[in-house]
This record gives sequence, structure tokens and C-alpha cells, in this order.
Amino acid sequence: METHLENCIFCKVIHNKAPSEKIYEDDYVTCIKDINPVSTHHYLILPKKHIRNAKELKNEDVELYDKMVSTVDKIIEKQCLDPAATRTGFHWPPFNTVDHLHLHVISPVDSMSLLRKFMFKANSYWFVSTEYVRSTLQMCS
Ligand SMILES: [Zn+2]
Ligand SMILES: [Zn+2]
Repeated sequence: METHLENCIFCKVIHNKAPSEKIYEDDYVTCIKDINPVSTHHYLILPKKHIRNAKELKNEDVELYDKMVSTVDKIIEKQCLDPAATRTGFHWPPFNTVDHLHLHVISPVDSMSLLRKFMFKANSYWFVSTEYVRSTLQMCS
């Protein structure tokens, strides 16, 4: 599995080389609490494979991508979140924070400040939905 342990903070977190609060983990993904939560609940779903961002996902990553997205339901159930009040999505380059793909899960949306609502605005030029990212990948069955 491709990793960048030297210079990627999320690869370090995944391999327990840096501290984090993991709330879920399986063979493909790790889910951690965001260290700077913008609402009561703020989690990041990280693929264990180092992929720089949502734009760099390749068709071969579709299976992994779908596992990331299906993890959202597990987190919602585990943390007792209201799905209707939960926002999920990806930064869209050139707007990015950490260069390791991460799916944000934020709840409840109404508790975010105006600035954060702007930063994580659904389907903006800088923050896109899971459906949008999926549509950029070739459909495989
Ligand atoms: Zn990484
Ligand atoms: Zn982020």
C-alpha cells in the first residue's frame, strides 16, 4: 500500500505515528476526529492509501472510494447523528488543507459559524459532494 510516512500527517495518523482520536477503522479507511472541529461533530474519513485529493482519484480507486462513502453511514449510526443535519464532502483543488484525501463529516450544520458554513458550502467551487466526485469517476459495476 502506498504511504508517505515521511511528509504526510494523515499517513502518520493512519499508521499510529502521530496522535489522533480514531473512532472507526477497517482494512480500507480510518475515521478520526478533526482536531479543529467546526461543529459539535466533525470527523474525517481517510483512505489508508495515500491519494492526494479528490481530483486525483483514478478509476481503479472506485472501490476504495465507495468504501469511504459507505463509511459515512457507519459514522452517522455510531455517533447518533441526524443525517438531515449532517454535511459531507471533499475539498476541491486548488482549495485543500492536507494533501491526503479526506471526507469531511460535519454535524449539525446549523452549529457552524458563518465563516465555516462558507468554507464547507455544499457544491461550491471549493467543497464538493460525494455524488459529484463519484460522477467524475468511470462507472464500474
Ligand atoms: Zn498520506
Ligand atoms: Zn479538510
